[in-house]
Amino acid sequence: VSESAYTGRFAPSPTGPLHFGSLLAAVASYLDARSHQGRWLLRIEDLDPPREDPNAVPHILQTLESCALYWDGDIRYQSQRGEAYEACLHSLTERGLAFPCSCSRKQLGSGLHLGRCAYPGGECAWRFLVGSGIESFQDQLQGLQHFSLDQEIGDFVIRRRDHLWSYQLAVVCDDIDQGMTHVMRGIDLIDSTPRQQVLYRALGARIPVWSHIPVAVERNGQKLSKQNLALPLNPAASADNLWLALQWLQQQPPAALRGASPAELLSWAIPNWQPQQLAGQQQMPAPDHFRQP
Ligand code: GLU
Repeated sequence: VSESAYTGRFAPSPTGPLHFGSLLAAVASYLDARSHQGRWLLRIEDLDPPREDPNAVPHILQTLESCALYWDGDIRYQSQRGEAYEACLHSLTERGLAFPCSCSRKQLGSGLHLGRCAYPGGECAWRFLVGSGIESFQDQLQGLQHFSLDQEIGDFVIRRRDHLWSYQLAVVCDDIDQGMTHVMRGIDLIDSTPRQQVLYRALGARIPVWSHIPVAVERNGQKLSKQNLALPLNPAASADNLWLALQWLQQQPPAALRGASPAELLSWAIPNWQPQQLAGQQQMPAPDHFRQP
Protein backbone atom coordinates (compact mmCIF):
# COMPACT_ATOMS: atom_id res chain seq x y z
CA VAL A 1 0.00 0.00 0.00
CA SER A 2 1.44 3.38 -0.93
CA GLU A 3 1.66 6.03 1.75
CA SER A 4 -1.16 8.06 0.31
CA ALA A 5 -3.68 5.20 0.15
CA TYR A 6 -5.12 5.88 3.57
CA THR A 7 -4.02 8.28 6.26
CA GLY A 8 -6.30 8.99 9.19
CA ARG A 9 -5.89 10.54 12.60
CA PHE A 10 -7.10 11.15 16.11
CA ALA A 11 -6.85 14.83 17.04
CA PRO A 12 -7.85 15.49 20.64
CA SER A 13 -7.79 18.92 22.25
CA PRO A 14 -5.99 18.60 25.61
CA THR A 15 -8.60 20.45 27.62
CA GLY A 16 -9.17 17.56 30.02
CA PRO A 17 -8.62 13.84 30.53
CA LEU A 18 -9.90 11.40 27.91
CA HIS A 19 -13.52 10.38 28.48
CA PHE A 20 -15.64 7.66 26.87
CA GLY A 21 -16.82 10.04 24.11
CA SER A 22 -13.28 10.81 22.99
CA LEU A 23 -12.29 7.12 23.23
CA LEU A 24 -15.03 6.36 20.68
CA ALA A 25 -13.51 8.78 18.17
CA ALA A 26 -10.08 7.27 18.80
CA VAL A 27 -11.25 3.66 18.41
CA ALA A 28 -13.38 4.34 15.33
CA SER A 29 -10.67 6.30 13.50
CA TYR A 30 -8.07 3.68 14.48
CA LEU A 31 -10.16 0.74 13.24
CA ASP A 32 -11.06 2.51 10.03
CA ALA A 33 -7.39 3.23 9.31
CA ARG A 34 -6.09 -0.21 10.26
CA SER A 35 -8.83 -2.06 8.39
CA HIS A 36 -7.66 -0.18 5.26
CA GLN A 37 -3.99 -1.00 6.03
CA GLY A 38 -3.70 2.73 6.58
CA ARG A 39 -1.62 5.01 8.74
CA TRP A 40 -3.11 6.45 11.93
CA LEU A 41 -1.61 9.63 13.32
CA LEU A 42 -1.98 11.36 16.66
CA ARG A 43 -2.20 15.13 16.75
CA ILE A 44 -2.61 17.14 19.92
CA GLU A 45 -4.70 20.24 19.18
CA ASP A 46 -3.23 22.51 21.81
CA LEU A 47 -4.22 25.85 20.33
CA ASP A 48 -5.86 27.49 23.32
CA PRO A 49 -3.53 27.49 26.36
CA PRO A 50 -6.03 29.07 28.81
CA ARG A 51 -8.45 26.18 28.21
CA GLU A 52 -5.82 23.45 28.53
CA ASP A 53 -5.21 21.08 31.40
CA PRO A 54 -1.52 20.21 31.95
CA ASN A 55 -2.50 16.67 32.95
CA ALA A 56 -4.51 16.03 29.80
CA VAL A 57 -1.71 15.03 27.41
CA PRO A 58 -0.15 12.44 29.74
CA HIS A 59 -3.62 11.01 30.46
CA ILE A 60 -4.52 10.85 26.75
CA LEU A 61 -1.25 9.09 25.85
CA GLN A 62 -1.47 6.69 28.76
CA THR A 63 -5.07 5.80 27.95
CA LEU A 64 -4.37 5.23 24.25
CA GLU A 65 -1.34 3.07 25.01
CA SER A 66 -3.18 1.07 27.64
CA CYS A 67 -5.84 0.35 25.00
CA ALA A 68 -3.10 -0.77 22.54
CA LEU A 69 -4.13 2.10 20.25
CA TYR A 70 -0.62 2.77 18.94
CA TRP A 71 -0.16 5.62 16.49
CA ASP A 72 2.31 5.92 13.62
CA GLY A 73 5.23 8.32 13.66
CA ASP A 74 5.74 11.25 15.97
CA ILE A 75 2.98 13.04 17.78
CA ARG A 76 2.26 16.42 16.25
CA TYR A 77 1.54 19.35 18.55
CA GLN A 78 -0.36 22.26 17.03
CA SER A 79 1.30 24.65 19.47
CA GLN A 80 4.51 24.14 17.43
CA ARG A 81 2.92 25.00 14.10
CA GLY A 82 2.45 28.77 14.21
CA GLU A 83 4.68 29.39 11.20
CA ALA A 84 2.74 27.00 9.02
CA TYR A 85 -0.57 28.59 10.01
CA GLU A 86 0.93 32.01 9.34
CA ALA A 87 1.85 30.82 5.84
CA CYS A 88 -1.69 29.52 5.23
CA LEU A 89 -3.19 32.80 6.39
CA HIS A 90 -0.74 34.70 4.21
CA SER A 91 -1.64 32.66 1.16
CA LEU A 92 -5.32 33.45 1.74
CA THR A 93 -4.88 37.17 2.41
CA GLU A 94 -2.61 37.58 -0.60
CA ARG A 95 -5.41 36.38 -2.80
CA GLY A 96 -8.08 38.45 -1.08
CA LEU A 97 -9.72 35.42 0.51
CA ALA A 98 -9.30 36.58 4.10
CA PHE A 99 -9.82 39.99 5.66
CA PRO A 100 -9.26 41.75 8.98
CA CYS A 101 -12.33 42.37 11.09
CA SER A 102 -12.89 44.34 14.25
CA CYS A 103 -16.57 43.47 14.74
CA SER A 104 -17.37 42.43 18.29
CA ARG A 105 -19.62 39.53 19.10
CA LYS A 106 -22.08 42.06 20.41
CA GLN A 107 -22.11 43.99 17.15
CA LEU A 108 -22.78 40.83 15.18
CA GLY A 109 -25.48 39.60 17.53
CA SER A 110 -26.93 36.42 16.09
CA GLY A 111 -26.13 37.57 12.55
CA LEU A 112 -23.52 36.07 10.25
CA HIS A 113 -20.62 38.15 9.01
CA LEU A 114 -20.84 38.47 5.22
CA GLY A 115 -18.34 40.44 3.20
CA ARG A 116 -15.32 42.51 4.08
CA CYS A 117 -15.43 44.53 7.23
CA ALA A 118 -16.18 48.18 6.50
CA TYR A 119 -13.90 49.83 9.06
CA PRO A 120 -11.38 47.38 10.46
CA GLY A 121 -9.27 49.09 13.11
CA GLY A 122 -7.33 48.33 16.28
CA GLU A 123 -6.85 44.68 17.16
CA CYS A 124 -8.46 42.65 14.42
CA ALA A 125 -9.50 39.08 13.93
CA TRP A 126 -9.07 37.56 10.46
CA ARG A 127 -12.05 36.03 8.71
CA PHE A 128 -12.30 33.83 5.66
CA LEU A 129 -14.48 35.27 2.90
CA VAL A 130 -16.97 32.48 2.16
CA GLY A 131 -19.03 34.11 -0.60
CA SER A 132 -22.30 32.39 -1.38
CA GLY A 133 -23.58 29.11 -2.74
CA ILE A 134 -24.04 25.65 -1.33
CA GLU A 135 -21.24 23.55 0.10
CA SER A 136 -22.01 19.81 -0.11
CA PHE A 137 -20.34 16.59 0.84
CA GLN A 138 -21.12 12.92 0.91
CA ASP A 139 -20.57 11.75 4.47
CA GLN A 140 -19.79 8.02 4.58
CA LEU A 141 -22.10 7.54 7.56
CA GLN A 142 -24.52 10.46 7.51
CA GLY A 143 -25.21 10.68 3.77
CA LEU A 144 -25.33 13.73 1.56
CA GLN A 145 -25.01 17.04 3.44
CA HIS A 146 -25.67 20.56 2.20
CA PHE A 147 -24.86 23.88 3.87
CA SER A 148 -25.69 27.34 2.55
CA LEU A 149 -22.55 29.46 2.83
CA ASP A 150 -24.32 32.79 3.15
CA GLN A 151 -27.27 31.59 5.22
CA GLU A 152 -25.70 29.07 7.58
CA ILE A 153 -21.95 29.62 7.62
CA GLY A 154 -20.89 33.23 7.07
CA ASP A 155 -17.34 34.57 7.09
CA PHE A 156 -15.77 32.64 9.92
CA VAL A 157 -12.78 33.52 12.07
CA ILE A 158 -9.47 31.89 11.15
CA ARG A 159 -7.27 33.92 13.46
CA ARG A 160 -8.63 35.37 16.64
CA ARG A 161 -8.27 38.92 17.78
CA ASP A 162 -6.11 37.66 20.68
CA HIS A 163 -3.81 36.06 18.04
CA LEU A 164 -4.82 32.48 18.79
CA TRP A 165 -5.31 30.33 15.69
CA SER A 166 -8.78 29.05 15.07
CA TYR A 167 -9.48 25.33 15.05
CA GLN A 168 -10.75 25.57 11.42
CA LEU A 169 -7.55 26.98 9.96
CA ALA A 170 -5.19 24.83 12.04
CA VAL A 171 -7.03 21.56 11.43
CA VAL A 172 -7.11 22.07 7.66
CA CYS A 173 -3.52 23.27 7.46
CA ASP A 174 -2.33 20.18 9.38
CA ASP A 175 -4.63 17.69 7.68
CA ILE A 176 -3.28 18.91 4.32
CA ASP A 177 0.33 18.91 5.51
CA GLN A 178 0.02 15.40 6.96
CA GLY A 179 -1.65 14.05 3.82
CA MET A 180 -4.91 13.09 5.49
CA THR A 181 -7.11 11.12 3.12
CA HIS A 182 -9.84 10.19 5.63
CA VAL A 183 -11.33 12.01 8.60
CA MET A 184 -13.52 10.09 11.01
CA ARG A 185 -14.74 12.05 14.05
CA GLY A 186 -17.81 12.89 16.11
CA ILE A 187 -20.93 14.30 14.50
CA ASP A 188 -20.66 17.29 16.83
CA LEU A 189 -18.04 18.54 14.33
CA ILE A 190 -20.15 18.09 11.19
CA ASP A 191 -20.96 21.83 11.02
CA SER A 192 -17.23 22.49 10.78
CA THR A 193 -16.90 20.34 7.68
CA PRO A 194 -18.31 22.89 5.18
CA ARG A 195 -15.97 25.52 6.65
CA GLN A 196 -13.05 23.15 6.28
CA GLN A 197 -14.03 22.27 2.71
CA VAL A 198 -13.96 25.91 1.59
CA LEU A 199 -10.49 26.20 3.12
CA TYR A 200 -9.25 23.05 1.34
CA ARG A 201 -10.51 24.47 -1.92
CA ALA A 202 -8.95 27.88 -1.28
CA LEU A 203 -5.64 26.20 -0.47
CA GLY A 204 -5.83 23.99 -3.55
CA ALA A 205 -5.79 20.70 -1.65
CA ARG A 206 -7.69 17.45 -2.02
CA ILE A 207 -10.67 17.13 0.32
CA PRO A 208 -10.59 14.00 2.52
CA VAL A 209 -13.34 11.40 2.82
CA TRP A 210 -15.57 12.39 5.77
CA SER A 211 -17.27 10.08 8.26
CA HIS A 212 -19.07 11.52 11.28
CA ILE A 213 -19.87 9.00 13.99
CA PRO A 214 -22.74 9.52 16.46
CA VAL A 215 -22.00 11.03 19.87
CA ALA A 216 -22.49 9.34 23.23
CA VAL A 217 -24.96 11.19 25.42
CA GLU A 218 -25.85 11.60 29.06
CA ARG A 219 -29.28 10.81 30.49
CA ASN A 220 -30.36 14.38 29.72
CA GLY A 221 -29.43 13.96 26.04
CA GLN A 222 -26.33 16.17 26.23
CA LYS A 223 -23.12 14.85 24.78
CA LEU A 224 -20.46 13.59 27.15
CA SER A 225 -18.04 16.46 27.46
CA LYS A 226 -15.67 18.17 29.77
CA GLN A 227 -18.27 20.89 30.30
CA ASN A 228 -20.66 18.19 31.51
CA LEU A 229 -17.98 16.75 33.76
CA ALA A 230 -17.73 13.49 31.84
CA LEU A 231 -15.87 10.93 33.94
CA PRO A 232 -12.20 10.45 33.01
CA LEU A 233 -11.41 6.96 31.76
CA ASN A 234 -9.47 4.79 34.14
CA PRO A 235 -6.44 3.42 32.24
CA ALA A 236 -6.47 0.42 34.60
CA ALA A 237 -9.87 -0.60 33.15
CA SER A 238 -8.74 -0.40 29.52
CA ALA A 239 -9.80 -3.85 28.39
CA ASP A 240 -13.32 -3.27 29.65
CA ASN A 241 -13.46 0.28 28.29
CA LEU A 242 -12.38 -0.93 24.89
CA TRP A 243 -14.93 -3.75 24.89
CA LEU A 244 -17.65 -1.26 25.78
CA ALA A 245 -16.46 1.11 23.06
CA LEU A 246 -16.68 -1.69 20.47
CA GLN A 247 -20.13 -2.60 21.67
CA TRP A 248 -21.25 1.04 21.59
CA LEU A 249 -19.86 1.31 18.04
CA GLN A 250 -22.31 -1.53 17.13
CA GLN A 251 -19.51 -3.97 16.34
CA GLN A 252 -21.01 -6.79 18.43
CA PRO A 253 -17.80 -8.02 20.04
CA PRO A 254 -18.25 -11.66 21.07
CA ALA A 255 -19.12 -11.98 24.77
CA ALA A 256 -16.23 -14.42 25.09
CA LEU A 257 -13.83 -11.54 24.36
CA ARG A 258 -14.96 -9.62 27.42
CA GLY A 259 -11.90 -9.68 29.63
CA ALA A 260 -9.53 -10.31 26.70
CA SER A 261 -6.53 -8.00 26.42
CA PRO A 262 -6.80 -4.79 24.38
CA ALA A 263 -4.43 -6.25 21.77
CA GLU A 264 -6.66 -9.32 21.38
CA LEU A 265 -9.78 -7.17 21.16
CA LEU A 266 -8.24 -5.04 18.44
CA SER A 267 -7.08 -8.04 16.45
CA TRP A 268 -10.68 -9.19 16.41
CA ALA A 269 -12.08 -5.72 15.73
CA ILE A 270 -9.86 -4.69 12.79
CA PRO A 271 -10.91 -7.41 10.34
CA ASN A 272 -14.50 -7.23 11.60
CA TRP A 273 -14.85 -3.43 11.40
CA GLN A 274 -18.21 -2.45 9.94
CA PRO A 275 -18.67 1.30 10.21
CA GLN A 276 -21.96 1.09 8.32
CA GLN A 277 -23.52 -0.26 11.52
CA LEU A 278 -23.47 3.39 12.62
CA ALA A 279 -25.02 4.81 9.46
CA GLY A 280 -27.60 7.50 10.09
CA GLN A 281 -27.15 7.47 13.89
CA GLN A 282 -26.62 10.86 15.46
CA GLN A 283 -26.58 10.08 19.15
CA MET A 284 -26.79 7.06 21.42
CA PRO A 285 -26.73 6.80 25.21
CA ALA A 286 -23.33 6.18 26.78
CA PRO A 287 -23.03 2.94 28.76
CA ASP A 288 -24.38 3.41 32.29
CA HIS A 289 -21.17 3.69 34.17
CA PHE A 290 -19.85 6.48 31.93
CA ARG A 291 -22.90 8.66 32.52
CA GLN A 292 -23.70 10.93 35.40
CA PRO A 293 -26.10 9.18 37.78
N1 GLU B 1 -9.61 18.75 18.34
C1 GLU B 1 -11.00 18.53 18.05
C2 GLU B 1 -11.73 18.08 19.30
O1 GLU B 1 -11.12 17.53 20.19
C3 GLU B 1 -11.24 17.45 17.00
C4 GLU B 1 -10.68 17.79 15.70
C5 GLU B 1 -11.11 16.92 14.55
O2 GLU B 1 -11.23 15.69 14.69
O3 GLU B 1 -11.27 17.49 13.46
O4 GLU B 1 -12.92 18.28 19.37
